[in-house]
Amino acid sequence: MNKLSQLFKKKKKDDEVIQYSIEGEDIEISSPDNFEKGVHVTVDMSTSTGFSGLPAEWEVLLKSNNITKDEVGQHGQDLIQVLTTYQGGADRSQEVKQAGGPTSRKLAQLLDPTDPVELFGATADLMRLDEGSSGTVYKGIHRKTGDVCAIKIIQLKADTKLDAIENEISVMYSCNHDNIVKYIGSFSRGQDLWIVMEYLKGGKLTDLLLTTQLTEREIASICREVLQALSYLHKNARIHRDIKSDNILIGVSGEIKLADFGFCAELGDNKDKRKSVVGTPYWMAPEVIRGVEYDTKVDLWSLGIMALELADGEPPLLDLPPLRALFLIATQPPPTLREPEKWSEEFKDFLQNCLSKSPQKRASADELLSHPFITKGGDTAWLVSLMQTVKEQ
Ligand code: ATP
Repeated sequence: MNKLSQLFKKKKKDDEVIQYSIEGEDIEISSPDNFEKGVHVTVDMSTSTGFSGLPAEWEVLLKSNNITKDEVGQHGQDLIQVLTTYQGGADRSQEVKQAGGPTSRKLAQLLDPTDPVELFGATADLMRLDEGSSGTVYKGIHRKTGDVCAIKIIQLKADTKLDAIENEISVMYSCNHDNIVKYIGSFSRGQDLWIVMEYLKGGKLTDLLLTTQLTEREIASICREVLQALSYLHKNARIHRDIKSDNILIGVSGEIKLADFGFCAELGDNKDKRKSVVGTPYWMAPEVIRGVEYDTKVDLWSLGIMALELADGEPPLLDLPPLRALFLIATQPPPTLREPEKWSEEFKDFLQNCLSKSPQKRASADELLSHPFITKGGDTAWLVSLMQTVKEQ
């Protein structure tokens, strides 16, 4: 029986909706103004691609990702799921950055009525730190408390998905943990939304990897801090869904903090599983790619990929186009270290515990916190001198 997750809708520019289904299972779309048509994609080795009913854009994707007919023969059904995931991913910014959940709060309830310019000064006077996909991040000083803050300013447009922003703020608002970026407040000014949080001077972990080869003990200490954040989130029925070095920020004293809750999902009382396809391809767990139900274990897979990233400088498969990477993650054995001889058995065992393709066999955050690789990690004060060196360079 096919899963609903194997279906996707693709909106065309004239608002036409094509709905695909797999192996004869059609689902109706109740949208009277739209032209609808059901397309069946099945593995059929008598055709040139290995599929029949293949939409033209899928055919282009197969070619541009060097997916051969032999691979279709071996993994045809998996490939249909991967293509579905990939296609869904193209619309991800619009559709799945909305987790909501039992404690999700509406934006209006979260906004502080104060004019942010009175508290932080005008945007032109703030120091620009970085650009994210949803907005620009500035550094500012809270005039009442004197705290140095990071301010993400998002320009609200007609097509801005408020649910995603509500979700991000709502999660940060309700979290209180040393390894999670502290939320200070949200304000509106004209069309702009200001999300204010604690400032983490060291910026994102990814930037350190550009110039530094971390030692095993250093990798262990970073993983431990992230695991502490994950243990807290998971106990509170939340899944981060976008663990990667870009979303780990470093504080002035070497604190490690988890950030960017735009993809975070909250599990309801009756649901301890999610299905929407969320994350960044190279860090994505196989079960997410395969479109089956998943839970908090997806964060531990991504943590394993992040640990490989910390050791090798980048995640596995980064040199491949995203669709090919998704296909390989779903169909091949778990990735390993590039130069295994350089690393300890403990580290490799830790990675195996994170990177089990079966979520049931994958360790939980609490289990990994007591893994010998993690317990041998030191504190993160070493990051202070490293940040200084990177700055001087
Ligand atoms: P994306 O979804 O593309 O990652 P985004 O719009 O959600 O982007 P963030 O990832 O939250 O934005 O932030 C973008 C960048 O701003 C970060 O990569 C980091 O360099 C900087 N930044 C964000 N928050 C802070 C903070 N609290 N302290 C210091 N720098 C920060």
